[in-house]
Amino acid sequence: PYDRVFNFSAGPSTLPVPVLEKAQAEMMNFRGTGMSLMEMSHRSAPFEEVLHNAEADFRALLGIPDRYKVLFLQGGASTQFATIPMSYLPAGKKARYVITGSWGKKALESAKILGDAEVVWDGKSGNYNDVPNDLALDASDDVAYTHFTSNETIQGVRFSTDPNWGGPLVCDMSSDILSRPVDISKYDLIYAGAQKNMGPAGVAIVVISDEMLAKGPDGLPPMFDYRVHAENDSMYNTPATWGIYICGLVYRHLLDTGGLEAAAERNDRKAKLLYDAIDGSNGFFKGHAVPSARSTMNVTFTLASDDLTKAFLKEAQAKQLDGLKGHRSVGGCRASIYNAFPEEGCQVLADLMRDFASRNG
Ligand code: PMP
Repeated sequence: PYDRVFNFSAGPSTLPVPVLEKAQAEMMNFRGTGMSLMEMSHRSAPFEEVLHNAEADFRALLGIPDRYKVLFLQGGASTQFATIPMSYLPAGKKARYVITGSWGKKALESAKILGDAEVVWDGKSGNYNDVPNDLALDASDDVAYTHFTSNETIQGVRFSTDPNWGGPLVCDMSSDILSRPVDISKYDLIYAGAQKNMGPAGVAIVVISDEMLAKGPDGLPPMFDYRVHAENDSMYNTPATWGIYICGLVYRHLLDTGGLEAAAERNDRKAKLLYDAIDGSNGFFKGHAVPSARSTMNVTFTLASDDLTKAFLKEAQAKQLDGLKGHRSVGGCRASIYNAFPEEGCQVLADLMRDFASRNG
């Protein structure tokens, strides 16, 4: 009814239609307050309830134990690239970085400025088409933490399980948070920008264990001190009220549609439609990721030439398949199919891939 396209954007990205409809219905007069939530004090009771419910539902979805704090911050995932080493990489210790793509490299860049950051695995030789699922890393007194990216948004590679590495584990889950169940107890710090699986840009979520939190040094500027945010329940300064509200609606929608197990099943099914089209094309489409590292969120593939890629993208656009152009570092196409992306859109794309290959192969 709204004339919407199938939006394959890598982020900000498509949101559940029932969430957008609810936000629309509540826009002018939020739950009887006579104003929009955007116009309301963050210290008001209705907003505090929105924040409280968003946190409770997020905790319920991921099964987050009480010994972790959940923070709703700003500055995107990119600010956490710096806050994490600033807080937990003291002189005399080193941080281990596992580099499986572009975002891990960015995280490393900030860590190197702030302390001793060591690369323990780097997928560069394969142009970041794989992840080290079998990498063994033991705990060691001189290691502050190990950092990795569960899903690399640009390359479309992901870890299939939570790693069993020793020592504090820190993970950038920006592009696959809430796409599948996660064993939170394996992690000390998880962070993610909201704008892929959770809501609009402007919210960054941090989940941190009390043990890790206690390791933070004194003397940080308060905005870069997770303890300050934790002590103030994410209200040290004005939080991203509208973004948190939409995230809360997304969490509720996920709970109402079966939680993360059901989301993972839907995501596996959606991704399979596209990977089957790639694998069945006799090499016309080439998947970037090796099969064992294939992401269910970002499906990356190339065609034999720039001309074919352009022609394919043009036909896709004509079928309302929007945002499929790949990142320049991989080339070709990238289909970002986060939680809210409808299965029907994957089917339309898979059908077009088969049809296009048969006409141009
Ligand atoms: N990490 C990953 C895995 C991402 O996909 C992105 C955004 N594309 C970022 C970090 C950066 O997030 P932000 O723009 O919120 O800083």
